[in-house]
Amino acid sequence: MKKFVDLDVRGKTVVIRQDLNVPMKNGTITNDKRIRAALPTVKMALEKGAGVILISHLGRPVEGEYAEEFSLKPVAEHLGKALGMTVSVAKDLASCHVKPGQCQLLENIRFFKGEKKNDPALAKQLADLGDVYVMDAFGTAHRAQASTEGAVRQAKIACAGPLMVNEVEAFGRVLNDPKRPLAAIIGGAKVSTKLGVLNNLLEKVDILIVGGGIANTFLAAMGYSVGTSLYEPDLIEEAKKIMQKAKDKGCQLPLPVDVVTAKELAQGQKGTEVDVAHVPADAMILDIGSQTEALYAKVLKEAQTVVWNGPMGAFETEPFHKGTVALARDLANSQAFVVVGGGDSVACVEKYDLADKMGYISTGGGASLELLEGKQLPAIAALEDRS
Ligand code: ADP
Ligand code: MG
Repeated sequence: MKKFVDLDVRGKTVVIRQDLNVPMKNGTITNDKRIRAALPTVKMALEKGAGVILISHLGRPVEGEYAEEFSLKPVAEHLGKALGMTVSVAKDLASCHVKPGQCQLLENIRFFKGEKKNDPALAKQLADLGDVYVMDAFGTAHRAQASTEGAVRQAKIACAGPLMVNEVEAFGRVLNDPKRPLAAIIGGAKVSTKLGVLNNLLEKVDILIVGGGIANTFLAAMGYSVGTSLYEPDLIEEAKKIMQKAKDKGCQLPLPVDVVTAKELAQGQKGTEVDVAHVPADAMILDIGSQTEALYAKVLKEAQTVVWNGPMGAFETEPFHKGTVALARDLANSQAFVVVGGGDSVACVEKYDLADKMGYISTGGGASLELLEGKQLPAIAALEDRS
């Protein structure tokens, strides 16, 4: 991929596709993480002496229709404060104009007809807004849309922004020729949403650790009764296949030996630790137990590279956070290169202030899952073709 950091753009207009899709409530931004992640790229472009036009989507408006609740105006204001300058909002393509040193944000790209279908005419118009098109929205790289893929293909010069480069390099360190042993930790709610990830990673990893609802399905596949736990009976056969494949390949796949159970998933419930063979019929598994925590820590001690996606339990509800937090602390203190991806796993790491101690925290949930599934992401493929 051609990299923005290497380009001389003094006096030029740079168009940057970013992921500024922040959560909002009544016009107020409730979490500005994505804006903060995007800022270094904007600053880099301004410092290089360019004029900057930013493109992003926000929420899911009806395409082609303006709707105030999906306007990027609050984002422009927030960006302006962070940059110490005015960031104007261009409501249509004809109003996009910047001089070097200025920064403008185009209204929600999903207000424009043709974005979702990757309409080549819209893609060309977006590419033609400037001299250089920078794709920096890793979180949207798995979607082939006009602003994410089409414009990259049509721009005079197209390149990857620093955030995009960091993401691709971090996952590259896991997926291509990693320092071994390589471990993957896959937790979260459902096997069904991560079956592709499990199967692809199984081809590469030396250690596979499962947690959360996913582990429950594996326990059921082992013949254990999982009571009223979240699990997927339909995927028991798949779980068995995965276990067999791991065995054939010599990949370690330790399963929980004890779990924390409760009658219901609610704050303040008392968790009861039981052996996996003794889950009561009227209770649900909501976390891994302390022996499992120790077992996983021991297996992971060897690992030189780790990729983690998905919590070990229902960590949002105390006391069922313990297994996930213990694992997060182990990973934070480990000397392995640790990549964390997935909305909820990243939220957990941030909640317990461990993000700085990880090797890399991904900004893209869906996009990172597709990378782990071994898929080519359309925006990355386009950037590679343009290099
Ligand atoms: P990520 O966003 O990190 O990819 P997922 O979206 O797959 O993770 O799963 C996260 C969700 O799974 C969390 O909301 C968590 O509470 C839930 N979860 C994990 N383990 C359990 C469990 N044993 N029972 C119920 N919910 C669980
Ligand atoms: Mg999630």
